[in-house]
Amino acid sequence: MTAPAATALAPGLTEELRAAVGEAHLLTDPSIVASYETDWTGRFHGRASCVVRPADTAQVAAVMTAAARAKATVCVQGGNTGLVGGSIPVDGAVLLSTARLTVLEPVEVAAGQVTAGAGVTLAALQRHVRAAGYDFGVDFAARDSATLGGMAATNAGGERVLRYGTTRAQILGIEAVLADGSVISRLAGLPKDNTGYDVASLLAGSEGTLGIITRLRLRLAPLLTERAVALVAVDGIAGALTLLQTARNRLPTLEAAELFLADGLALVREKTGLPAPFAAEHPAYLVLECAGRTDPTDDLLAALDACDADVLLDATVATDTRGRHTLWAYRESHTEAINAAGVPVKLDVAVPLTALGELVAALPTTIAEAAPQARLILFGHINEGNLHVNILNATDRAEAVTDAVLHLVAAHRGSISAEHGVGRAKSRWLHLSRSPQEIAMMRAIRQGLDPDALLNPRVLLDAPPPTDRGPAGANSA
Ligand SMILES: Cc1cc2nc3c(=O)[nH]c(=O)nc-3n(C[C@H](O)[C@H](O)[C@H](O)COP(=O)(O)OP(=O)(O)OC[C@H]3O[C@@H](n4cnc5c(N)ncnc54)[C@H](O)[C@@H]3O)c2cc1C
Repeated sequence: MTAPAATALAPGLTEELRAAVGEAHLLTDPSIVASYETDWTGRFHGRASCVVRPADTAQVAAVMTAAARAKATVCVQGGNTGLVGGSIPVDGAVLLSTARLTVLEPVEVAAGQVTAGAGVTLAALQRHVRAAGYDFGVDFAARDSATLGGMAATNAGGERVLRYGTTRAQILGIEAVLADGSVISRLAGLPKDNTGYDVASLLAGSEGTLGIITRLRLRLAPLLTERAVALVAVDGIAGALTLLQTARNRLPTLEAAELFLADGLALVREKTGLPAPFAAEHPAYLVLECAGRTDPTDDLLAALDACDADVLLDATVATDTRGRHTLWAYRESHTEAINAAGVPVKLDVAVPLTALGELVAALPTTIAEAAPQARLILFGHINEGNLHVNILNATDRAEAVTDAVLHLVAAHRGSISAEHGVGRAKSRWLHLSRSPQEIAMMRAIRQGLDPDALLNPRVLLDAPPPTDRGPAGANSA
């Protein structure tokens, strides 16, 4: 079937974009452009007028200068693994792909830092810095496609936040192109620099609405090769939290603590063919990983031994690479297994740990009331109270179920987006996590930097204020 024609560009803009990036990197064939117009989940679709693939910061600046002159909107796309629709173009925007911004400079061993292009994937960065005896503090399952620019723009979290913090905590400097085509570049990597606003922190988590990140100066972590992973069965959230507390208190080498439930395990096993991890089924499971310069296995086993038998129902530990990967696969295969089962509504939320049990208990009823046919799969990063709420079979109740879950989260003093960002998926509900004053401040910053709202329209801030419920939920304090 012939793909529909791409939306027309403003007169003259095509020539300017071609001059900016070169003939080969201005893509206008609708069948090629179409491959950039759907997100990873298959839930969000859009329309781009063309795709541009600049090779460096100067070309990104030339693209933005031309777009600003024509008042053309621009959508930035990295690896397109984002889960909130932020990388999908709307209304015929120019799609700017960072796929060619892949320069990786040599690791600065003395400083433990590296400068990398925004289009470098997480896996490519890991290979590069590990060869120099370092590691990167952020890791997650989409590592082969997710880019550093996308991770910075969403302030990605992942599996090691417990030890190293989110992507923002790894950024020591940034280079970005603003909506008018001007370039800010601050890549010296000074760990101490109190000369006014922290531009890198501001751009981290801005979801492409304040500037296009082109290069990053990154803090590196030590390369810890001695690792042990435990898969532990518990009776539910209360047991998981007790175990987490023991592990945190007894294990300075603890790097990850990941949660999944019986339903998720069943789906993962159905889609991957993995065997049952234990002879008996259990309500909930934790993956714990320790890493150090010396073998952490004995410490991990001692910490598990210290847990009461009514908390720790079953456990298995792996130290060899293959065994560790197998245990991780039970957790890391969740996202792909869910996607293979249908197009999910994905809600990535966080609540204080004291509220986590209540939230998990309330979710099934809340979701059943909003979407009676829906199927719920939960997993997440338990140390941060971060739950990935995946709802399959929501059909035409996607908005209703989103509304119900996000209000429930707000009522538990939570965040409607723990790590994936707000994107297009949740911009209507931003007021549940941010006060009117905070939203006004965000709008003022955006207005100051991008008065014509050219960058990533409809992402994060562009939804109209809500009319269905009152302002600021329980989290506004
Ligand atoms: C299997 C799987 C597992 C995942 N696990 C996690 C996880 O554990 N933790 C987590 O946080 N996320 C996770 N994600 C979500 C996703 O991988 C992250 O949000 C990631 O940071 C997105 O990177 P990307 O390059 O794919 O960005 P994209 O999807 O291309 O874009 C994401 C957003 O960033 C903007 N953007 C992209 N590049 C730039 C740039 N250079 N400058 C300015 N704005 C830009 C886009 O416009 C968009 O708004 C997972 C996704 C999948 C598919």
